[in-house]
Amino acid sequence: MRDDLDLVREFGLHLAVVETLSNRHRGLLLWELERRRGDCPECGMPRELCEDPEQVWYPQRRVCHKTMQEKAARRRYADIHGEGTGAQWHDGRFQNWSEEQTAKTPFHADDGVTIFATPFDLNPDDDFLTAPAGVVRPPRKPRGPR
Ligand SMILES: [Zn+2]
Repeated sequence: MRDDLDLVREFGLHLAVVETLSNRHRGLLLWELERRRGDCPECGMPRELCEDPEQVWYPQRRVCHKTMQEKAARRRYADIHGEGTGAQWHDGRFQNWSEEQTAKTPFHADDGVTIFATPFDLNPDDDFLTAPAGVVRPPRKPRGPR
């Protein structure tokens, strides 16, 4: 019964499910439970490995180039359409840009835009990471007293 409760706790199984397990499946789960108990709670590796002071550990790095490209593209897009660029609002076709939301440029640069990377260029004509030319800048509003 104690083993059944351990299986409930460790694997999130309902007690009624645990009670219907075959001996083989129960044995496999108990074996996994025993294996997990021998693992380091910090890193999840077998303790005889990670607690061995003679074991040399090499820091590693994984690089996701897809994520790298996506994040760089998002930053570039924000640089092009951020505050002070004059190109924050557009006409819905991304052709006419304005510093402010107007009747002709009601859409913000981020409205409905998702930036992601694919292994093939799905839309080679969409040059969205180049700053738009001919941004319409409305006349500066007079500043009030400070
Ligand atoms: Zn460890």
